[in-house]
Amino acid sequence: MSGVDMRANFARAVEILRGLYPDAECSLRYEGDPWRLLVMARLSAQCTDARVNVVAEPLFLRFPNAAAMACGDIEEIESIVRPCGLYRIKARDLRAMSEMIVGAYGGEVPRTMEELLALPGVGRKIANLILGDVYGIPGVVTDTHCIRICGRLGAYDEDMKDPARAERAVAALVEPCEQTDFCHRLVMFGRDVCTARSPRCGDCALFSVCRHAKSR
Ligand code: SF4
Repeated sequence: MSGVDMRANFARAVEILRGLYPDAECSLRYEGDPWRLLVMARLSAQCTDARVNVVAEPLFLRFPNAAAMACGDIEEIESIVRPCGLYRIKARDLRAMSEMIVGAYGGEVPRTMEELLALPGVGRKIANLILGDVYGIPGVVTDTHCIRICGRLGAYDEDMKDPARAERAVAALVEPCEQTDFCHRLVMFGRDVCTARSPRCGDCALFSVCRHAKSR
């Protein structure tokens, strides 16, 4: 398939998913607070958003902002975030990123890719989530759903798992103004229909634009 056709397919996929999920919302309940989104995004590595939402309640009750977390006792942070897994490194990152936000940015989460990537525990996926969701700067959030579904749709080989390559490929196929919402919708669609183990191709609204479906 030519690049032009693939762009047309992705444009159609964007449109269909917009119709299916008009409210493209981040499934992490961060209540409009960029620092909370940063913390929750870090906790979500190898953990479900649902569990992060549960763990975040006592965490933010005890540490309501970056200044409080920056002075937090590391063992106490660890004990609260333990259900999210990888709790030692996550607790260390939460405190270190909060220290940097307080010390270098006056408590405000920075708004450039370069500054975000300098925060402990923050990679491009989290940085793009913050930029897109909080600051309205377009970006592709290459979480597991995005990488899997865009591979099935045909953006790259289905077994390709490299987030950086996926980000570049999807960014070239989806209009910048659509990227953030498209990625939120892929999460919902990936849970409902195009699941990792048993995609429901027979019931899928993207069937006509999906390379995986056509190859079967
Ligand atoms: S047709 Fe199947 S593989 Fe393609 S997007 Fe739909 S559920 Fe996923």
